[in-house]
Amino acid sequence: HVFCKHLPKIELHAHLNGSIRETTLVQLASERSVTLPATLLQHEAEHHDPDSEALFNTKPRSLEECFEIFAYIPRCVNDIVALKRITVEILEDFANDNVAYVELRTGPKVLLVDHTSGEQYCTKKQYVETVLDIMSSFEGKERKRYERELHNSKDRNLVRLPLVPRLLMSVDRSGTLDQAEENINLAIDMAKTHPHIVGVELGGNPTRNDFRFFEPLFQKARDHGLKVSIHFGEVPTARNDSDSSDPILKAAYDEAIAVLNFRPDRLGHALLLPHVLMEKLMRKPIPIECCPTSNVMTLELALHYGGNLVNGMKKHPQLGKWKSRRYPFSINTDDSGIFCTNLTKEFLVIATAFDLSKDDLVDILIQSVDHIFDGTEVFREKLKTLIMGRVDEL
Ligand code: 5GP
Repeated sequence: HVFCKHLPKIELHAHLNGSIRETTLVQLASERSVTLPATLLQHEAEHHDPDSEALFNTKPRSLEECFEIFAYIPRCVNDIVALKRITVEILEDFANDNVAYVELRTGPKVLLVDHTSGEQYCTKKQYVETVLDIMSSFEGKERKRYERELHNSKDRNLVRLPLVPRLLMSVDRSGTLDQAEENINLAIDMAKTHPHIVGVELGGNPTRNDFRFFEPLFQKARDHGLKVSIHFGEVPTARNDSDSSDPILKAAYDEAIAVLNFRPDRLGHALLLPHVLMEKLMRKPIPIECCPTSNVMTLELALHYGGNLVNGMKKHPQLGKWKSRRYPFSINTDDSGIFCTNLTKEFLVIATAFDLSKDDLVDILIQSVDHIFDGTEVFREKLKTLIMGRVDEL
């Protein structure tokens, strides 16, 4: 646990609103007279101690339950005041967990300016500007803190690395094409002056709509230099091209093929892959953003093992294969508030379930630096050197 905690980590798949602290969600709900269903608030007080090592989420949430609770979050984070609060808290949580680089993703929303003072709304652009302002000032403070501590330290490798935050603009696949277009155009436009915006992503309820519906927009984003990540393999598909017994599974398979042919820069989850798709990926890999706890929770694997996350993790449909076949993947939290997790816990749970050594964890981490959307080769190599320097001290 101490090793996983102090290991400088990187996070590539974290939804802003899903990373809200549960305590904050409860408080915002009460201030706004929103009644959160008790069944959705399932974490006991002890779960709030982010450092406790035995502390894995043991209560699965099905994918449907997750989308039920996601629907409550915008009713609580309904103004700029709340948006600022959760963004700062989320960055603090990642920094305190020794995360050195985070890509947060969020779908811009029209929020109230302040829920206590009437019906004045901000634009989607102001939503994004709010998040970017907080990221910039957080990054500046972190850099200053790092330089100060370096100055006072005998050994640079003893100093916690500064957190570098970046932003991906989300498209919600359950929304309309117009809404998607608005978000993509905003990302393209704002990225010209805001280097923190490094990419776009497709997420939201995987049972709604189809990637192909949005594909031209993602192509446009790519043509403008933005990187693309697509949620993938969250629902079952047909086994292969000629398996057409179930039209829903067949449509999911055809969609998956379209996603792979588009060749996004990264894939989110890539969890439920029939052999044919797995082999297609093996031949021409696309880095996968793996979210171990989220995967086990939404597949309800832990439920089958008496709430034992480690035993559920051993049944993760892909992780063991990716590891043994040296497939490129990263380890991420997805929605730390919803799944009661952080990156320390994610590394710890996979280490325990798959009997991974410290070197294995470092290998996974270092290879995932190559998947980050920001910057140049020089930036990535520097980050690797800094991480390895810290690792040598652990
Ligand atoms: P936001 O974009 O509001 O900051 O982040 C929350 C949203 O991210 C959710 O409403 C949902 O649309 C999306 N999201 C969070 N977790 C997942 C996930 O595991 N899979 C998919 N497909 N979408 C997710």
